[in-house]
Parts: sequence; C-alpha cells; structure tokens
Amino acid sequence: MQRLEQIEVKLAAARARLILEQPFIGALVMHLPLIPAQGSWCETTATDARALYFNPRFVAKLDLRQTQFVLAHEALHCALGHFARRVHRMKRRWDVACDYAVNMLVARSQNSSAASAIWIISLSGILCPSCTVTEAASLRAVCSASS
Ligand SMILES: [Zn+2]
Repeated sequence: MQRLEQIEVKLAAARARLILEQPFIGALVMHLPLIPAQGSWCETTATDARALYFNPRFVAKLDLRQTQFVLAHEALHCALGHFARRVHRMKRRWDVACDYAVNMLVARSQNSSAASAIWIISLSGILCPSCTVTEAASLRAVCSASS
C-alpha cells in the first residue's frame, strides 16, 4: 500500500503530464484542489466542481496514464457543466450519459486505445470508476456507490 504522500506525488505527476500533453485539460485540472476523501463515501474519485476528491486506495492501484485519465475525466465533468445541466433529468441516467461523453472525449484527447477507456469503464462494473457527479444545489460530493 502506497502512503498518502506517494499517492499525492503520483497525482501531481499526472497533473503535470496533463499540462504538458493536453494543456487545456491540464489547466482545468489545475483549478481543482486534490483532496483525499475522508471516510467511505468515495470509492474512486469524485468532484463537486470545487475540488477533486480521491480515494487513496483507488489511486494507489492506477498507473500514471490511468491517473491522468481519471483527473481529465473529473475536470471535464466540471468544464461541461454536468452539475448544472441535469435539471429535471433522472440522476442515474444523466450520470451514465455524462460518463459516456466524458470518457469518449478523454480517450480521444489522450489518443488512448479503446482498451484503456474500457478498462476505466469496466472498473466500476457500470461505466466509470470516477463518476460521482453531485447535485449542484448541495455542492456536496456524493459517491455514486452510496447514492
Ligand atoms: Zn464520471
């Protein structure tokens, strides 16, 4: 098990590589403080458009490229306004639709093979491990596994 400091170094390295390889997405990620999630509410990563929360045990299992993928994924949820645009739509369907859109964008922007995107998708058993789009009104991150 990696220590929190090692995981934070990995996150910082992934963020730096995003800035170098994908400056737009990297700039988006730079605006999200990286905060270790306390408790069990977040099994993977999450965002409330104010910060990016991560489960250290989850990030410990990722390689650098996969870490870049989840950071970009969360940043694009924020950039695309997924919190504010759900309105009356069913939350679960909206989250799934947003994950499809975000994962395709991230995979294309990283020139990732479909295999890496599928890896991310299959981790959760649903779509993506990092999707935890929150209610805009509450601005409180909630884990999709607990909602
Ligand atoms: Zn997501």
